[in-house]
Amino acid sequence: MQVNKNKIPVGILGATGSVGQKFVQLLADHPIFEVAAVAASERSQNKRYHEAANWFMPTAIPEQVAKQTVRACVPDLPCRIVFSGLDANVAGEIEQAFARAGYLVVSNARNHRMQADVPLLIPEVNADHLALLQMQNLGRGGIVTNPNCSTIGLTMALKPLHDRFGIESVHVVTMQALSGAGYPGVASLDILDNVIPFIGGEEEKMESEPLKLLGTMTADGVKPADFAISAQCNRVGVSDGHQESVSVKLSGEPSAEEVIAAWQQFTAEPQTLALTSAPKQPVHYFHEDNYPQPKLHRELENGMAVSVGRLRACKVLDYKFELLVHNTIRGAAGCAILNAELMVARRLV
Ligand code: NAP
Repeated sequence: MQVNKNKIPVGILGATGSVGQKFVQLLADHPIFEVAAVAASERSQNKRYHEAANWFMPTAIPEQVAKQTVRACVPDLPCRIVFSGLDANVAGEIEQAFARAGYLVVSNARNHRMQADVPLLIPEVNADHLALLQMQNLGRGGIVTNPNCSTIGLTMALKPLHDRFGIESVHVVTMQALSGAGYPGVASLDILDNVIPFIGGEEEKMESEPLKLLGTMTADGVKPADFAISAQCNRVGVSDGHQESVSVKLSGEPSAEEVIAAWQQFTAEPQTLALTSAPKQPVHYFHEDNYPQPKLHRELENGMAVSVGRLRACKVLDYKFELLVHNTIRGAAGCAILNAELMVARRLV
């Protein structure tokens, strides 16, 4: 395979899965990264990528990847960065092996997210947490993680409010898309004409990860934010796009106009650096009563922006609103790629 010497070679672990395919799709024609290796389970190894992956992206498999042979997930790949879309049952050990061998692992899996020395990163929210990488003591190697997909949408909407007003408590109910369950995911007979009010481990992640993300970086690590989150998670028959109904109690008594302004004016390091995958505006506020909707808004800013709408008074907490996040782009592969772009810009690669 011909490698473009002007680009940084990257590998994809779990390249055949739902998130892995999104990595392959988003990295096609990327200006600084080039896919030099794809790896997956024994089921896929030694097959050409186009034969191993049950490709279900709406665009064709990028030519540069289609004919690559799927490799084993062992740290002998010809690259410096590996993106991981591995099943959580195997991600822990495989990602550690890569990090110890000197690879920079940018992971979507849950395994290392809450480890004290691992950055749980959304570039617009907590770029300063990258300092944790030094505590890993792995030389050139290291692990950086993405939050859970629903957490990413929620935390991007909470960040401007937390910075400007302070958050005292949050209640969130999710309606989560099928692609969040991987491929083949939920059986059609389980989800057609139905809503499933349980997603294993999801509520626990949503109640803990935002506190690490909104925590303060100190010399001893991250001091988590101190407020309560209550989450209720449902699986619904939508293909892509997690919708969330959020109620929030804020410190102070900001007006609705001030809350909307906080979202509209929110900008951070990825926007200043004009990183390739960064949305121009991370949070979009819609004034229409019936927005946001998965079908209409999930692709906003190439799937990297969070859509917010329906801000109104809440009789239990202060305000309630709706938000939408594309779960496999901003909520997974797109966020991981933005994480890597930030690390390149900060010369950590
Ligand atoms: P998926 O569709 O089930 O894909 C799993 C991938 O892991 C496949 O490429 C599979 O390879 C590989 N794999 C499984 N067992 C393996 C083994 N023993 N050795 C090496 N590779 C193995 O899952 P997904 O939805 O893409 O999710 C991937 C990860 O991202 C999970 O940890 C998930 O929690 C997380 N995540 C997912 C989303 C989302 O919206 N889907 C969002 C955020 C985070 P084969 O095809 O060869 O079996």
